[in-house]
Amino acid sequence: MERGINTRCLHLEETEGKTDNYGALNYPIYQTATYAHAGVGKSTGYDYSRLQNPTREQLEKVVASLEGGIDAFALSSGMAAITLLMEIFKPGDHIIAEADLYGGSVRLFDNVSKKNRYEFTYLNCSRDDIEGAIKENTKAVYIETPTNPMMNVSDISKIAEIAKRHGLYLIVDNTFLSPYFQNPLKLGADIVIHSGTKFLGGHNDTLAGFIVTNNEEVQEKLRFIIKTTGAGLAPFDCWLILRGIKTLGIRMERSQENAIKIANWLKEQPVVKHVYYPGLQEHPGYEIMKKQARGFGAMLTFDVDTEAHALQILESVRMIKFAESLGGVETLITYPTTQTHADVPEEVRLKNGITPCTLRVSVGIEDIEDLLAELTEVFKGLK
Ligand code: PLP
Repeated sequence: MERGINTRCLHLEETEGKTDNYGALNYPIYQTATYAHAGVGKSTGYDYSRLQNPTREQLEKVVASLEGGIDAFALSSGMAAITLLMEIFKPGDHIIAEADLYGGSVRLFDNVSKKNRYEFTYLNCSRDDIEGAIKENTKAVYIETPTNPMMNVSDISKIAEIAKRHGLYLIVDNTFLSPYFQNPLKLGADIVIHSGTKFLGGHNDTLAGFIVTNNEEVQEKLRFIIKTTGAGLAPFDCWLILRGIKTLGIRMERSQENAIKIANWLKEQPVVKHVYYPGLQEHPGYEIMKKQARGFGAMLTFDVDTEAHALQILESVRMIKFAESLGGVETLITYPTTQTHADVPEEVRLKNGITPCTLRVSVGIEDIEDLLAELTEVFKGLK
């Protein structure tokens, strides 16, 4: 029987009791670039840390186990993970991508991947006809669900079924929900992406990225690409992410609990025009979320009535920080227009619903009374 997810965050069965001779509870940081050989042709299994490092391997196994993959790759950031993943494609390949992706992914696709003659079609994958966009050279569908920042929810199993029928890879960026709430591979996806900087690390102190797969061909290609290009996560950062993962479950539950309360509070504010949170029953993705995820997450987006009010909110928060990023224990508020999505062309941003009145919140684990007290004060001060 598979152990529960909270147990898997703490204990990796495969290496239990094998970490060192001293009984250290925490997996050691193997801060080494290279490894001595006992003799010619006698490797310990570790030759050079660009290829393999025990701390990185431990982390990769933990993340693979949380997502239900055959392998995981720990990279130096989420963007490093997506960049390396793009190396499995070749010039002329076509990818159908969600239009409302994290802005950095769009920047990568439009400025780097296109230069390599990859072709992209951007769709609202929660709504548009994906099958109708498939061409002879289509190789993959790349989605986020819920999307960043508009929280659109796509039906992973339905898209996986279309992808399988046409021989395409389904790639899901699962950063927003983390493996604690959603496991796309179990719903038919082939590849999962994570910015490990976010909920997996959980403390706003380390950059990391992951690719997880259950496809042997992808696994083999990626091992070769990573060995050759060398963006593997450094041992100390691997250790920090391993430490963060230990509390993934309780952090996700607590921040989600706060997010539901904040979403409901925001709904009552006259200056708030719309709240995008898939845990609200009126959200169009609510039923799909209930079917494919074990929770709704801690990310929410809302529109206020004017740009001036949006800017005032950003200027007046104190405990809540006006900052990029998400998924840490501290509550952050972000302005997609000038921060995370600044490089998405304005007309695309507006088409996706990101306006100068749009704010995104990553809800942390503070006491809800303190979060609501600060928000009440900030909203009261709006002129
Ligand atoms: N994917 C999503 C959904 C993100 O929100 C981000 C960053 O915000 C990334 C990927 C990129 O991750 P990183 O910042 O670790 O490079």
